[in-house]
Amino acid sequence: MPELPEVESVRRGLRPLIGVPVASVRVARRDVVRDDAGRRRGRLDPGALLAGARVASIERRGKQLALIGDTGRVVLIHLGMSGQVLLGPEAGRGEHTHVVWTLGDGAKVAFRDPRRFGGVWTLPGRAALDARWRCLGPDGLRVRAESLVEALGRSRRAVKAALLDQRAVAGVGNIYADESLFEAGIAPSRPCDALDAPEWDRLAGAIRRVLARAVRDGGSTLRDYRRPDGSAGGAASGHKVYARAGKACSRCGGPIAGAVLAQRSTCWCPRCQH
Ligand code: ZN
Repeated sequence: MPELPEVESVRRGLRPLIGVPVASVRVARRDVVRDDAGRRRGRLDPGALLAGARVASIERRGKQLALIGDTGRVVLIHLGMSGQVLLGPEAGRGEHTHVVWTLGDGAKVAFRDPRRFGGVWTLPGRAALDARWRCLGPDGLRVRAESLVEALGRSRRAVKAALLDQRAVAGVGNIYADESLFEAGIAPSRPCDALDAPEWDRLAGAIRRVLARAVRDGGSTLRDYRRPDGSAGGAASGHKVYARAGKACSRCGGPIAGAVLAQRSTCWCPRCQH
């Protein structure tokens, strides 16, 4: 499932969109598009999907991507499990393409999502976007130990499960939670309230570094994720523990452990993480 580095890679890949007018929009599956109240039926105003506008900026918070039109309208995109945003003259031809924007220069932007856990939200303006993003914790690329302690320091939840809570830190999912805990040397099952100050410091720094490295490598392609130009991201080859249960730890050589923790598959090194 796409996490912060994958969505950031999409954001960067869509930068050529900025300033280009949107000529038209075609919605193949009406129920993929929701308004601010979550409604997914009824007649769609093409202007709400930025038809006739120019994209003024593209922003991201955690795993959410927002196209801000020069009309003030906002299109919010969640990639869900299998979402893709593709850009180019050929975009929009594949199966499971639900929304296609045609730009003034002839290029197309397509939202594809075979499993349809993601979607597109039309928001009336910046205030509606800010209201949604206020519910998210600090973005993972900038998270500090103090905010993790404030959000989780008294929680008895396992730290791995807590890191998946988007209100504590936005953008971390199953892959980068496991990778960050390995980098910090912290066992995923440790209760949050048992972590001391140096450990929270190590964890916050590990989250920032692990996410930044994955952004640099274009995100992790495990199955569906693609960059807007259709290419796969290269970050999966840098995973140290995720999906490596039974393989040798790159640090100590011992076997990586795997178990289900808080309903999510979890991988860690029992020798390197305490
Ligand atoms: Zn190890």
